[in-house]
Amino acid sequence: MRTIATCRDDFPVLDQTASSGRPLVYLDSAATSHKPLPVVEAERRFYLHDNANVHRAVHTLAARATDAYEQARRAVARFIGAPQPESVVFVRSTTEAINVAARSLGQMLLREGDEVLLTVMEHHSNLVPWQLVARASGARLRYARLLEDGTLDLDSVREILAGGKVRIVAVTHQSNVLGTVNPVAELAAMAHEAGAVILVDGAQSVPHMPVDVQALGCDLLAFSGHKMLGPTGIGVLWGRIELLERMEPVFGGGEMIREVELDHATWNDVPYKFEAGTPPIAQAVGLGAAVEYLESLGMANVHAHEATLARYAVRRLQELRNIRIYGPLDDRRGGLVAFNVDGVHPHDVATILDHEGVAVRAGHHCAQPLMRWLDVPATVRASFYVYNTEADIDALVEALLAVERVFGKGRR
Ligand code: PMP
Repeated sequence: MRTIATCRDDFPVLDQTASSGRPLVYLDSAATSHKPLPVVEAERRFYLHDNANVHRAVHTLAARATDAYEQARRAVARFIGAPQPESVVFVRSTTEAINVAARSLGQMLLREGDEVLLTVMEHHSNLVPWQLVARASGARLRYARLLEDGTLDLDSVREILAGGKVRIVAVTHQSNVLGTVNPVAELAAMAHEAGAVILVDGAQSVPHMPVDVQALGCDLLAFSGHKMLGPTGIGVLWGRIELLERMEPVFGGGEMIREVELDHATWNDVPYKFEAGTPPIAQAVGLGAAVEYLESLGMANVHAHEATLARYAVRRLQELRNIRIYGPLDDRRGGLVAFNVDGVHPHDVATILDHEGVAVRAGHHCAQPLMRWLDVPATVRASFYVYNTEADIDALVEALLAVERVFGKGRR
């Protein structure tokens, strides 16, 4: 039986040394995760045995490719508790999912003076698309404030909603910097009470915790395959089917139409209306395999494992002098920790950690407004997944001692 304790063997990429010759410790899964053998094998099998374009031919391979693609859709629907497979739209990434949703909802719902409610902790992917839509529609972007500990200020959300102008709420489920897990079910209830629709950026939640769209009560959910053990180039826009049916497509082309005349066209059913052109077929098949892999581990176990690692990381980092951790220090944090070492630029920290074999990310993490709120140019971020262990965090702490040695800081 596959368990989290034994799954590391399925990730041969982890079994190597970094360029410095030290054993590789990968703590950058929030940027992208590694792919287990069954996912790589599913894509390989598809290309070697079933490869054809989907939906467009009667021949054997086309039928098999279409079956494999649609089976992946059913697997994803099951994984997020979607009531119908057709409510799962395959796109290329979270970024594409949010752009499609923003453009389509913007046209449908936003008029001059309307408001879109975001938060200060959003990734640029859930921020810039709304800026584009606001510019086109004359709508105004409003930002819910954060509390000192990096959690969302729900009073600020209430205040903005009380103005009666918010048509769309777009919020991340889990911050890719602070690790904060937002109370999405509560936010969905608040948004609906105010007559707004709510889109959830699930890029950092769907891979790491049980997510059930019906329990959350959200209207739209966006996430990426590559952060959840699947391939790059595949993402999902899930939507309530009645909403998707009312939304206009954003991309035009093959497969998304029912009838095309010279001067107009009518649309195919959901989800095909949103899947113009040849979709990422092998990548969808790989995502289906990733979903099955995560289901075999159990998402509750995945979440518990990461919560344990996050708690352990926070505790070990707090033992070091001159480390400042961002975001909540309690269990409202997911499996990542962003921090800075006093007086050392995060890029220098990441460079020394790399020399010690430890792969972390340093930068603004595509969240520049949040960096301004934190009043830092950048942070270091260590992020965890199913294949990480407490020993990886011990290696991070040891490597941070090397940073302290280089920059002349002592131990507490
Ligand atoms: N939202 C969040 C919270 C993210 O962490 C990321 C990826 N860093 C994205 C959106 C964008 O995902 P992608 O690059 O796969 O489109």
